[in-house]
Amino acid sequence: MVLGLRDVFTAHSVLQGVIRRTPVFAVPDSTVYLKAENLQHTGSFKIRGAFTLLCDPAFRSGVVTASSGNHGSALAYAAAQQNIPACVVMPQDAPAVKVAGCRRHGAEVIFCGHTSSQRQQRAHDVARERKWAYAESYDHPRIIAGQGTVGLELVQQMRELGQVVCPMGGGGLISGIALVIKGLAPHVKVVGVEPKGAARMTFSLASGTPQVLTTVDTIADGLRVDKPGAWTFPLIQQLVDDVITVDDDDIRTAMHRLFYDHKLVVEPSGAATFAAFLAGHLNITSHTALIVSGGNIDASRLDQLVAPSGSSGENGSVSGKKESSEVEVVINEGRAEF
Ligand SMILES: *Cc1c(COP(=O)(O)O)cnc(C)c1O
Repeated sequence: MVLGLRDVFTAHSVLQGVIRRTPVFAVPDSTVYLKAENLQHTGSFKIRGAFTLLCDPAFRSGVVTASSGNHGSALAYAAAQQNIPACVVMPQDAPAVKVAGCRRHGAEVIFCGHTSSQRQQRAHDVARERKWAYAESYDHPRIIAGQGTVGLELVQQMRELGQVVCPMGGGGLISGIALVIKGLAPHVKVVGVEPKGAARMTFSLASGTPQVLTTVDTIADGLRVDKPGAWTFPLIQQLVDDVITVDDDDIRTAMHRLFYDHKLVVEPSGAATFAAFLAGHLNITSHTALIVSGGNIDASRLDQLVAPSGSSGENGSVSGKKESSEVEVVINEGRAEF
């Protein structure tokens, strides 16, 4: 099977009416723009690849997948739309919002282990027992083509575009986007961002072959992937201009700023690109689109990550507590009394 720009156009037409064309917001006083996939159905871009994958008749009788969250919810949603029974194998410590996302769309959830290989093993076993198909989460041409539709929308939405910055887990999203960008606008730079604590692409690109990390440590649960994919690695090698890393503190600051300044609820993985921008790791010489890839985070976790005053560069102390000097507003029979 070969994968090309045409597959992304096919996915784009299949996805009409299924996904939302997410908005692009300008960051004031800059040439930076945010592509808000946190506002996508199921809370991340993953619905694009999942729905495109399930259009393959091989998945008709049932589908099993291993997921730390967003791919699972997206697959559950896509399966429900196509009347396919679905089962998602998730880690024991998956965010509650992501577990609920799977169940809400009628998927069965099985909890298993902490590592992605344990989950994949279990999902393969379930698939064999039930004679259902196993669904990859990033390393499949249909998934890459589906995720690539983000790039197609960007090319349509931004009149001027010089650079696209994309988070990297297994690399499905950036592979699809790079395929589109290098096919339609090869002068546009494609930059990948991964967490310092899970820098599998940085190591793999440096050595020229896919490397498996022995430990993965980051708050970005969607980017806790220990190796590049067999499909995604060569695409990234050929098409991605630059790969950079961000640390968890940068991600926390970015989540804080996205929440308070831009009113966007963004999960750690989704804030990685904005983190790279705020930390000064990007070379902004032209119009730059940052992919804000997802917004699935528990309210308690969001509070934990964005509330501490130390995490903000500019806003100083931010707390839910009322300052004593704050003005009291009392609503009394329709009038406000100060
Ligand atoms: C899955 C995911 C990513 C990484 O996508 P890959 O295709 O695995 O590289 C980034 N952000 C969010 C929110 C995700 O769910």
